[in-house]
Amino acid sequence: MPKKKKTSVLFAAFEAVPFIKTGGLGDVAGALPGMLNSKDMDVRVILPKLSSIPRQYTDKMEYVASLTVPLGWRRQYCGIETLKHDGVTYYFLDNEYYFKRDGAYGFGDDSERIAFFSKAILECLQYLPDFFPELIHCNDWHTALVPVFLHEHYGHLAHYRDIKVLYTIHNLKFQGIFPRWDCGDVLGLTNTPAETQLLWGDAINFMKGAVCYSDWLSTVSPTYADEICTSYYGEGLDSIFRSRRSRLSGILNGIDIKEYDPEHDKLLKTPFNVDDLTGKAEEKARIQKELGLPVREDVPMITMISRLTEQKGMDLLVFILDELLQEDVQVVVLGIGDAKYEHDMRHFGSQYPEKCAPVLKFDTDLSHRLYAAADLLLMPSLFEPCGLSQMIAMRYGTLPVVRETGGLKDSVTPYNQYTGEGTGFSFSNYNAHELLFTLQSAVKLYAENPEAFHQLRRNAMTADFSWVASAKQYRELYLNLLGKG
Ligand code: ADP
Repeated sequence: MPKKKKTSVLFAAFEAVPFIKTGGLGDVAGALPGMLNSKDMDVRVILPKLSSIPRQYTDKMEYVASLTVPLGWRRQYCGIETLKHDGVTYYFLDNEYYFKRDGAYGFGDDSERIAFFSKAILECLQYLPDFFPELIHCNDWHTALVPVFLHEHYGHLAHYRDIKVLYTIHNLKFQGIFPRWDCGDVLGLTNTPAETQLLWGDAINFMKGAVCYSDWLSTVSPTYADEICTSYYGEGLDSIFRSRRSRLSGILNGIDIKEYDPEHDKLLKTPFNVDDLTGKAEEKARIQKELGLPVREDVPMITMISRLTEQKGMDLLVFILDELLQEDVQVVVLGIGDAKYEHDMRHFGSQYPEKCAPVLKFDTDLSHRLYAAADLLLMPSLFEPCGLSQMIAMRYGTLPVVRETGGLKDSVTPYNQYTGEGTGFSFSNYNAHELLFTLQSAVKLYAENPEAFHQLRRNAMTADFSWVASAKQYRELYLNLLGKG
């Protein structure tokens, strides 16, 4: 019997662990494709070759081809390199003018860099020797122009015409909004139907283009899929989401349970598991010592490992921190972000040196150790498409205290004092005192009912946050979109 052709999917993102990571998208792109690869599905990943990719990977990349990418009036060089990592084939698009920078995003010419990346993805398909995707899975605003260009510039080519696009929104806050001038100058889309779809007041909006042109939309939790159809969460795109609701799914992310495994985490001096938490207590003591906090087992350590932004609920935290620090608690915040919140955290650190330790940096090693050491993880987000930190924390027996929004609502079961069920604590309104009261009740449980608190840790550590369930749903979505379901 002839061998059945595998379903071919190209997963397009601007970051993926272990090559580039600035946030949750990097974790997703680093884990999901590997889970989807199977005997009948070939999922490959395409990324920009940013200069921050560690040498250990760039040294091993192999040259595939070079081509010229048309972008408005520009003709830009693009090299394609490839690397197989953990069974997944990665393609890296190389252009030093756009990608040899200190950082991934936030440059004055981001619209051009991002547009180049999307155009190059489509253009390079003709140069990949043994692969042509039936479906492109785009992610966030950095690849939002793929479906737009596909429709406008490649629709007349027979082999491109049938490509389906799934567009996943990880964070609606960043849409890629740029001056209208770029529509012609950079995108080469003036006087096309796409110009109307991209229009956003006097500007253009890359994500709006993807929302209009993709065959299917998804976001990273079922609750967030509902929320973005409302004006409160929709960031101005809610009416389009409502009109496309029948083609919008919500699939909760998983986490990489191998990377976040307290029993085998090489970053911990004393690994631990659900049956023996001695190592967790030791890690807590080590962290307390290192951060200059009193070494005490009996005081609950509350951590926050996060971008310090409004989205993450920093307003609420800063508002109640004085009151919270009157309690017998320790608060450790690991994060970087808005200058005002960094400033506030420094202030609390100097006011309460025995209780509050701000660590204002991005430090993956320390993040693992903090997930292990802490008792509670704070995540009072204003909105949270999925959120990974709360799931990582639960793996390490650190109970999340979350606001019931997006993926936080879908992944944390609040403590039920009558049944003892739960994997964390939650509150519903974006209100500082609701957060404070919820924290106070968690702290009280820690102090007064260690058995119940311990049971919650057990529940959290044994909950399933692997990619298996999510990957199954993505697989079904891919196959349905390709009419193979
Ligand atoms: P978002 O993607 O919105 O920033 P997520 O919760 O989805 O939030 O993912 C955040 C990821 O980044 C988690 O893996 C978290 O541990 C990590 N992280 C956030 N801030 C830091 C930091 N300062 N140091 C190390 N890791 C961090």
